[in-house]
Amino acid sequence: MIRAAYVHIPFCETICYYCDFPKVFAKGQPLEAYVDALLKEVEETVRVTPSDRLDTLFIGGGTPTVLSSELLRKLCEGLKKFLPLAQDAEWTIEANPEDVSQEKLDVLKAVGVNRLSFGVQSFDPDVLQAIGRAHTPEKAISTIKKAQATGFENISVDIMFALPKQTQDSFVHSMETVVGLEIQHVSSYALILEEKTQFANWVRSGRLELPSEDTEANQYEMLLKFMSECGYNPYEISNFARPGFQSRHNLTYWNNESYYGFGAGAHGYVEGIRTQNIAVPSHYIESMMSGKGPYLRTSTVTRGEQMEEELFLGLRKVEGVSIQRFQEKFGVSLRTVYGKVIENLKEKGWVETSHTHLRLTKEGMFLGNEVFQSFLVDSFDKK
Ligand code: SF4
Repeated sequence: MIRAAYVHIPFCETICYYCDFPKVFAKGQPLEAYVDALLKEVEETVRVTPSDRLDTLFIGGGTPTVLSSELLRKLCEGLKKFLPLAQDAEWTIEANPEDVSQEKLDVLKAVGVNRLSFGVQSFDPDVLQAIGRAHTPEKAISTIKKAQATGFENISVDIMFALPKQTQDSFVHSMETVVGLEIQHVSSYALILEEKTQFANWVRSGRLELPSEDTEANQYEMLLKFMSECGYNPYEISNFARPGFQSRHNLTYWNNESYYGFGAGAHGYVEGIRTQNIAVPSHYIESMMSGKGPYLRTSTVTRGEQMEEELFLGLRKVEGVSIQRFQEKFGVSLRTVYGKVIENLKEKGWVETSHTHLRLTKEGMFLGNEVFQSFLVDSFDKK
C-alpha cells in the first residue's frame, strides 16, 4: 500500500553552480498553469491507484517556496483535497531562505505543513558565493528564527561539505551554527561533481579545483563525530536527527517502499512500477492538459532489481537491512541470495551482521557506493 507522496516544484530564482536536479528559472514560467496541471495529475492518479492513508507528504524542488503565497495556498489546499493525509502525517516543504516571507510561513502553517527543510548549505558567505547560492548567512539565520517563531517545531537544514573555498574551520562554524539554532534535523552531503553543471564546465576548463578525496573523508569523519557529540543521531549515511525527528518520508525511500511521485521530472514507485514524469514544465503541462498523462517512461521492477534496491537503499540506514523483512518480502533468505557477497564484504571489514540486520561498518560507510556495487553482482540467481 502507498503511504507516501512526493510533489516536485521545478522552479528556482537562481541556479546553483553544482545543481543537476530537474529545474528551470522561475521567471516567465506559467506557475499557475503548472499548479493546475499538477493537481490534475494528483486527482487522476489517486483515482486510478488509491491509497487509504498517506503518512508522509514531501514538496520538494527546485524551490517550492518560489511560488507566491496564493499559489502555495492553492497547491496545498488542492493536495489536501485529493490526498488522504493521516491526522499525524509528516508534511514537509523544501524552503529557500531567500524567498520565505512571513506571509508564506503563515500560509504553510495554516494549511498544515509541519516540517520545513531549508537549503542552507553553508553559513560562510564566501562559500555561499562560490557555489552560486543567492542567500547570505544572516538571511538564513533570520528566516529560520522567523519559522521557529511562527511555530514550526520540526526544521531540517541541508549543509554541504567538500565545497570550494570551504576550510575545516568554515565547515565546523556551519555545524556550530546549526546546533546553536536548535535545529531538529540535518542532512549533510559532500559535493558531487555532476555532468552538465557549471562546476563541471569550470573543472574541465581548469578554472575550478575541488577539494581532494582526503579532505572530503576528513570532513565526513568530523561531521560524524560532531553530530554525535551534539546529540544528533546518525540514522542514515548523510542524515542526523534529534531523538524523534528522523525524516519519515525519506525512510520510505530507504525502506524501499512505494510512493507517489507528482509533478514535472518527479519519480514514483507504485505497485512495483517505477514512474518518471516529463521533466520540461511546459511539456508536462501540455501533456497533462491534453489528457496524455504525466509519464515520460514507466518500468516494471523485476524481483532481482527489487532485491538489489532493498540492499542499496537499506544499507544507507545506520541500522541496515532487516534480515527478517527481506525473507518476508522475497520468500528467500538474505544469506541464500547474497551469502557469498556478504562473506566477501565481511572479510574486507565493510559490512557486519547481527541476528537481525546486515549493516555497513564505519569503513563501509566511507566507501558507500563501492559497497553497494557489490550487490549488483549477477553471478548468482536472484529470480
Ligand atoms: S535552489 Fe536547489 S534546485 Fe534550485 S538550483 Fe539551487 S540546488 Fe538546484
